[in-house]
Amino acid sequence: MTQTIAFIGLGNMGMPMSKNLLGAGYRVFGFDLVAANLEGFAKSGGKPFRSVEEVVAEADVVITMLPSGAIVKKVYTDEKGVFANVKAGALLIDCSTIDVDTAREVSTLASEKGFEMVDAPVSGGVGGAAAGTLAFMVGGTAEAFERAKPVLEPMAGKIVHCGPSGNGQAAKVCNNMLLAISMIGVSEAFNLGRALGLDDQVFFDVASNASGQCWSLTSYCPVPGPVPTSPANNDYKPGFATTLMLKDLRLAMQAVESSGSNTPMGAKAAEIYTAMDEAGHGGVDFSGVLKHLAGKL
Ligand code: NAD
Repeated sequence: MTQTIAFIGLGNMGMPMSKNLLGAGYRVFGFDLVAANLEGFAKSGGKPFRSVEEVVAEADVVITMLPSGAIVKKVYTDEKGVFANVKAGALLIDCSTIDVDTAREVSTLASEKGFEMVDAPVSGGVGGAAAGTLAFMVGGTAEAFERAKPVLEPMAGKIVHCGPSGNGQAAKVCNNMLLAISMIGVSEAFNLGRALGLDDQVFFDVASNASGQCWSLTSYCPVPGPVPTSPANNDYKPGFATTLMLKDLRLAMQAVESSGSNTPMGAKAAEIYTAMDEAGHGGVDFSGVLKHLAGKL
């Protein structure tokens, strides 16, 4: 029998993700606070509902793609929320990027109520959501992961089980903290090279074949030229906006604090991206940090 999926949060990511589920033959019900998003969803063949309560009532699977941990917690735990209104045995999948502690708290509440739940944040952005090539980092039991996998597949390029609940979010914040640090490192190296009279392409050719090699250099190069698809060639239009990077870095810093970890480079990266955002450049791709560090943005 065709499974019914209730999709809550039909924004920049949720809308294209829900379209891929419809394309794969699932019956998809949707809810969002914004009426225009519900209209767009209905045009794609989804069935719109006017509340969380109504959208989950007949669902076998619930997927949430929401802005923050506080909203996720409310949507699941409210009187009119998911736990109180979904069928027994439904599978719950939160794809939002939220803090590790809230993800663990909500999934503990889910299991106390007898539901299987996974956290399944993504990387790949709006482009990956539209193309159905997102990378899912999944936290939850092995059984819940096996149930979630076929549901995630139409939206995914890669699905990795990262361990118990919260570990999907943990993998996501650790990866993005590393990305922020490496992008700043690559940007500093280009800026220093330029100041020393080194040509960008020459430095790229050296470093991309040497020990400085990393994704920020070879796939998302922050200077125009060496990697034609990188946002540096398109006036640093996102891509991955500084505000979104900053959201993930703040979640990383929250996790650093609650786990008592020592991440001085992560803290410095958060400071640099905060300054870039406060200077009014939150909408610029995060690789624009090269210009920000050079005092040109
Ligand atoms: P968005 O703001 O475009 O979408 C969020 C949607 O949730 C909005 O349409 C909003 O109306 C809806 N919403 C808010 N509260 C609600 C509620 N109580 N009930 C129902 N709907 C509600 O954000 P987005 O870019 O789609 O991101 C969603 C999540 O995915 C975020 O956690 C974000 O960090 C993460 N993410 C985004 C990207 C990206 O490139 N945009 C990449 C990876 C992960």
